[in-house]
Amino acid sequence: MLLIIDIDGTLADNGHRRVFLKDNARDWASFYQEEHVKADPPYPDALRAMKILTKTSARLVILTGRPERLRAITSAWLKTHYDIDTVEPDKGEFINGPRKSHVAQMFMRSDKDFRYANVFKESKVKWLYEVSADKNFVFIDDDTRCYGVYSQFGVILVPSHCWKAIQ
Ligand SMILES: [Mg+2]
Repeated sequence: MLLIIDIDGTLADNGHRRVFLKDNARDWASFYQEEHVKADPPYPDALRAMKILTKTSARLVILTGRPERLRAITSAWLKTHYDIDTVEPDKGEFINGPRKSHVAQMFMRSDKDFRYANVFKESKVKWLYEVSADKNFVFIDDDTRCYGVYSQFGVILVPSHCWKAIQ
């Protein structure tokens, strides 16, 4: 099983940064400023659930709309809070290779990719499905715009309900 997980609003509580997008401000530079991103607290229910999920045989994939320039701080954040090491995208070796506990492959938007996050994610999910030998996909993402595509390729678990439900 591939467990494909979003970050913002799913693992990371970015509520304190959402002020930058309020009232049509759309201040993405501030929203994604490193100091602000680093300060995201993890959701306590997600922390608890992820401790359980990382012990299962699921293979972890992080699929985030965050730009690549935030890869280093995002990796450090995932390690600090969730004890997950991340690896960069490849041609399919990670998802088809031996499963590694507490390691996730992380897909991020290129710094020049200004498509909506759900459009970016749709292209990655289609690619993953094509390449992965294991076609059992489970998605955890708060972005309902993605659900149409996700439902074609697997099962959707909705945060925060699913975090509370995983015991
Ligand atoms: Mg999200």
